[in-house]
Amino acid sequence: MSQEGSPFCSFCGRHANQVKKLITSPNGSFGICSSCVAICHSLLLKERGDTLGKYQVGSNALQGQDKVEPAAPLRLKIATPQEIKATLDACVVGQEDAKKVLSVAVYNHYKRLVFEKGIDVIQHDAHFTRTQELPEHLKHVEVEKSNILLIGPTGSGKTLLARTLAKVLDVPFAIADATTLTEAGYVGEDVENIILRLLQAADYNVEKAQMGIIYVDEIDKISRKTENVSISRDVSGEGVQQALLKILEGTECNVPPKGGRKHPEQEYIRIDTTHILFICGGAFVGLDKIIADRVGRKMLGFDKRNLDVHSQKDDDLLQQQVQPEDLIKFGLIPEFAGRLPIVSALKELGQKDLKFILTGTQNALLLQYEKLFAMEGVRLTVESEAIDAIVAKALVFKTGARALRSIVETIMLDAFFIVSQRPEIKEIIINAQVITQGIKPIFQ
Ligand code: ADP
Repeated sequence: MSQEGSPFCSFCGRHANQVKKLITSPNGSFGICSSCVAICHSLLLKERGDTLGKYQVGSNALQGQDKVEPAAPLRLKIATPQEIKATLDACVVGQEDAKKVLSVAVYNHYKRLVFEKGIDVIQHDAHFTRTQELPEHLKHVEVEKSNILLIGPTGSGKTLLARTLAKVLDVPFAIADATTLTEAGYVGEDVENIILRLLQAADYNVEKAQMGIIYVDEIDKISRKTENVSISRDVSGEGVQQALLKILEGTECNVPPKGGRKHPEQEYIRIDTTHILFICGGAFVGLDKIIADRVGRKMLGFDKRNLDVHSQKDDDLLQQQVQPEDLIKFGLIPEFAGRLPIVSALKELGQKDLKFILTGTQNALLLQYEKLFAMEGVRLTVESEAIDAIVAKALVFKTGARALRSIVETIMLDAFFIVSQRPEIKEIIINAQVITQGIKPIFQ
């Protein structure tokens, strides 16, 4: 192995920076990355009739001896719901219900892997092991996986929850965007590419990928446009839902190892999605009206007009009453809604929450900027009235915490520019007028 020579993989074309490891040929003119080695390995095993991913190449295989050794059994390090929630608490403000739901769902996912898939546990504080004796009548009961739906306005922390979750987990985790997907045969990404992302996160270890977790964002954007299928068949929405439904339910899917569209001559890696846990997220704008309609309709004498002027609290209450029938009315096909049995509603972030996101969390936004300036020996002071002004401005945008970053970024951009060319500056003070009147910060 050499550090010099071609910095690119001669097979997939990726740069050394984009891959885990790049192996170069002795004369340095060719390279192959770890992912392509894994794919070649899978293909060779397939040719020999072995099961994909069941073996690993021995270290001497690279020296020309095609020796395979049984892979070490997969073992899991399990995080308890309390540990998972503690990590979520450190990074995500509020959203208690969603945090609890996710922590328990992930923990149950682990349990299912241990009992139903026979995965070993390394060490953990959980109260279960594979050797736990189950009562006779439960031995053959199959525990179905419970995929999760997170409903919440934009900028309320859905993606952040998913990303933070990835930090605590000992299973591969991937994030996908439903809006990039299309039904097979149409322009866009095939649903299998979601699984490919998980396979990449598992470093092409098929067994590991098969027990991973996938977060699918913007799931509400693939709703069909009408509730009545026979009037208008909405290909883009319903077709994608059908395709996603298959992988949610559990299927053997053929994943093109390099991604992109499928074509007949391509080699595929087969992945069974039965044990992959799916978390879907979306804003579902207008769902509250659907719930209000249903609730109003069912409550005799209930004055529905009151719901038109409902408060934020009413909104949150309504979201918490979401039923599969509401999701179907919104545009999910019934089978798809049925495959997301756990629903958690995230609240719109209020003034206190936004303030805490700016200053109180582990990676609070202002702390991040403070650190960036400190790297140049400059102290950043944001006055408390300025913090209130940023929050007030963000609330107007109605994009949750997303607005905070754009407001702060605009102010800091100029400051970074000025500080970088004036080394005599030792402190930047941001007061309320910088936010409300657009004047420059004080540099001193
Ligand atoms: P969405 O709900 O639209 O997926 P995101 O999770 O992408 O929202 O949030 C956008 C950004 O806003 C995040 O990167 C994070 O910085 C911040 N943010 C959103 N919600 C929260 C929250 N509850 N706690 C802390 N930060 C948050």
